[in-house]
Amino acid sequence: MLRFVPEDTQCFVVMDLEWNQHASKPNHEIPHEIIEIGAVKLDRDLRILDEQQYIIKPAVYPVLDKHIREVTGIEPEELEDGLSFERAYHRFLKWCGPGAFLCTWGRDDYPVLLRNTRYYKLPVELAPPLNVQMVFSHLKTDKPLVQVGLSAAMEQLGMEMELPAHRALNDAIYTAKVMAVLQRDVDAASAEAIETLRKFNAEEALAALSDTRSVPTGCTSHDDVLGNERMVAVRCPICGGSTRMTLPWFDTGHGRYMALCECAEHGTSFAQMHFKRLYNNKLVMHQRAYLASPERIADVMARRNAARKTLPRAARRAQRPEKGEPV
Ligand SMILES: [Zn+2]
Repeated sequence: MLRFVPEDTQCFVVMDLEWNQHASKPNHEIPHEIIEIGAVKLDRDLRILDEQQYIIKPAVYPVLDKHIREVTGIEPEELEDGLSFERAYHRFLKWCGPGAFLCTWGRDDYPVLLRNTRYYKLPVELAPPLNVQMVFSHLKTDKPLVQVGLSAAMEQLGMEMELPAHRALNDAIYTAKVMAVLQRDVDAASAEAIETLRKFNAEEALAALSDTRSVPTGCTSHDDVLGNERMVAVRCPICGGSTRMTLPWFDTGHGRYMALCECAEHGTSFAQMHFKRLYNNKLVMHQRAYLASPERIADVMARRNAARKTLPRAARRAQRPEKGEPV
């Protein structure tokens, strides 16, 4: 794993978070409130040095979401004695120490950490993580872009899950174990494969610095949401300011949308959007935006062109680019 991180890395810290939310009444400044940080510290050879768990008493969403409770098995009483986020994060950083490089399974945790630290006006101090899931997908599957669940990955590697999943510390321990197995594949990989992975990791670092938001739309159809320009507008991930759509939202298939937009100051961002349905049939919009590399811009253009070919002729006409649109 040292092939993917800065040379002065002293140790790896595998971090996993659990968070609480209010699905229908989110606070947009902090849609996901961290309630648990689980972390495992590994030396440069991936030997486990220490583990830590921080329970945080929620202050924004004091009531534990039913779904979160079911998935994690966390009981509300456990959180009662939890630390404030400020105190827990301070202790966590101190425990990480200098030269620690963060690792996570998947790309969800770091943006949530960013949002929570920003909410409490705390310095993040940890660079975007190595996404172990991406290393797994590249070296162990023939679909490098598919996001594999941690338990599915462990099953594929023939590893036992003797601890309950979806608790922050356990998931961090599992991720650390998967890393140790993947190390053999990293060692055996060609220079070319490592270079590809490095590029993907640089892209992942951009994605980790993305702006994510979940917004209840009050609508029941995708078209109604897409027709509301204000609702589907994208904020610049760097400054939070408004952006101009340079490639409007298009469906890449299965209700997953992409767009390119531009902040006058920070340049082009890549935006992704999908929807989840609430119990009352209303849609919640999930958006992610991050600064786009030139490769990413080219890739989105190609997808847009491919997507257009598969649409019926009438829809194709409706999607025809307007003047000045870079297609
Ligand atoms: Zn900006």
